Amino acid sequence: MDVAANLEEIRQQIRQACANSNRNPEDITIIGVTKYVTTERAKEAIEAGVTNLGENRMEGFLEKYEYIQDDAVWHFIGTLQSRKVKDVIGKADVIHSLDRKSLAKEINKRAAGPADCLVQVNVSGEDSKHGIDAKEVISFVRELKRYENIRVAGLMTMAPHTDDEDQLRTVFRKLASLREAVQAEQLPHAPCQYLSMGMSNDYQIAIEEGATHVRIGSALVGSRETE
Ligand SMILES: *Cc1c(COP(=O)(O)O)cnc(C)c1O
Repeated sequence: MDVAANLEEIRQQIRQACANSNRNPEDITIIGVTKYVTTERAKEAIEAGVTNLGENRMEGFLEKYEYIQDDAVWHFIGTLQSRKVKDVIGKADVIHSLDRKSLAKEINKRAAGPADCLVQVNVSGEDSKHGIDAKEVISFVRELKRYENIRVAGLMTMAPHTDDEDQLRTVFRKLASLREAVQAEQLPHAPCQYLSMGMSNDYQIAIEEGATHVRIGSALVGSRETE
């Protein structure tokens, strides 16, 4: 599979989703998720015109970061252990998985200046999902004020694994309304402009519901088996 051809197809789908929802395609950032593939393949994505990359595990992140570095804007999208924060700080431009106070405290301690973080929300309420409860988002964001190096740049969620469009739409819509609620607080530490939601099989729906960042792995770079 040719990454450039996949990217063109995805851009076409994004234009369509934006047309459906009266949005501007320029407001959507594609994060190429390279966790299934080699550094070589990640470089192909960059050459094809992908500007943002995401990894969900520290090993894969550090390996690819070493070779690609400033050629991409980097997103750490996976669960982050507090003791690994020091490895990702200064490298990841955005951390998508802020989900507890202890992690905020560690990021705050390690960061040299305000770090862009997305609060991960478990919108669907599934036990298997990381993230804080929707009900707790506002109080959590308020509490983050005390950490001067935390900037709440937005919200992130993982939708359930399903083809049920209504269920997906409900989850995305809920995250979008939470972002509005955070923005209404007008907290200087929480501009909350980003909505990171949507993956290979549901990014069109996520965009129709307001996503600013879609995290696309298999549809863009493939998974190891299909590479
Ligand atoms: C793997 C992963 C993705 C991308 O998944 P695809 O279905 O391959 O697009 C997006 N977000 C997170 C957090 C992931 O771990």
